[in-house]
Amino acid sequence: MNVLDTRNHSFHPALSPLSPTNDPWDPIRSLRQYGRHRLTSVEMTVTNLCNMRCEHCAVGDSLVLAEPDKIPLADMLRRLDEVEHLETISITGGEPTFSGRTVSDYMVPLLQYARSRGIRSQINSNVTLPYSRYEQLAPYLDVMHISFNYTSAEDFHAIGFAKSGHSVSLEAASKLYDRMIDNARRLSEAGVLVSAESMINYRTYDKIDEIHRLIVEMGCRRHEVHPMYPSSFAKDLPVITKEQMRGAVEKLLDNRDKDVWMLFGTLPFYHCSDDAEERALLGRLARESNVTVRNDPDGRNRLNVNLFTGDVFVTDFSDVPAFGNIAESGLDELFNRWLDHPLAQGVNCHCPAASCCGPNLLVKDMYYKDENFLMRSAKLE
Ligand code: SF4
Repeated sequence: MNVLDTRNHSFHPALSPLSPTNDPWDPIRSLRQYGRHRLTSVEMTVTNLCNMRCEHCAVGDSLVLAEPDKIPLADMLRRLDEVEHLETISITGGEPTFSGRTVSDYMVPLLQYARSRGIRSQINSNVTLPYSRYEQLAPYLDVMHISFNYTSAEDFHAIGFAKSGHSVSLEAASKLYDRMIDNARRLSEAGVLVSAESMINYRTYDKIDEIHRLIVEMGCRRHEVHPMYPSSFAKDLPVITKEQMRGAVEKLLDNRDKDVWMLFGTLPFYHCSDDAEERALLGRLARESNVTVRNDPDGRNRLNVNLFTGDVFVTDFSDVPAFGNIAESGLDELFNRWLDHPLAQGVNCHCPAASCCGPNLLVKDMYYKDENFLMRSAKLE
């Protein structure tokens, strides 16, 4: 199959399938290809509205009940078109599909743009709204990324509406839970790669294998696992130790369905660690089939654009203020500006033999505040 490229009106061959050996969101790819970090991925925040209020929500502080108009889609498309090495776009919120008009007027055209240019797309959604919302997106979408941290509707009720400020009945939550599972199944059947993300936290670390089993039953082709780092909205949640995190990862590896791609990200473990057990776990992760550890994209190959203001951030949930606006600058220029930022410089290490390009900013801040990663290097056994 060939795909029309609207930029130069040429045809290019169909993309190779997303797989453990082909993950264009991993910044190590572009680092290897270009010898330096390049902007290959743009994430767009299209709403701060959401029908849920999860206790762990990374952007919970930004959620609102009403919101202003967005910047014109044409302005965003023009800035995307200028990004020379663009390989992926992501659309996030809130719940991006909360408004039907956002779906039809922004999301569908952005996904169509991605298809026409031959780049990959992802939406971050809770998939609890009627299937008709997602059905419009499915023909153009590569990855539907959902959160799944539950073993039952009761868990979903307790976690998903923890901060709603008004009581939501178990019955109402159960309907959404069933719809989420049904929608995920239908999207999988429609050919979308449904990737369910679980966080390792105080609720999930000792039942992560059970959560994995339900994710497999839902038809998800990928299970993405990240430790939870309490952001400002979730700062009151209990923190688990690195040993408990390591135990949860081992438990998953011991009990997983080997046909499902396991993608780990933002782990607080590095090959340069003095802790032999942490290095041993990384060694095991590297050896296992259908398992990948993704380097952190935020600020390495990706920027976030807020579609209400045009402001550009390193991620949608960071405390780092915006460092530019698409009304004034192109995204490649803003990315290069970010790379010179002292925060970016502080995590800009690279150990090619370990396929590692440094820690996530939040992880460094939490566990390695005084470490100079530029002086460390991988210890490979
Ligand atoms: S790239 Fe940085 S974090 Fe990764 S192993 Fe090397 S020094 Fe450690």
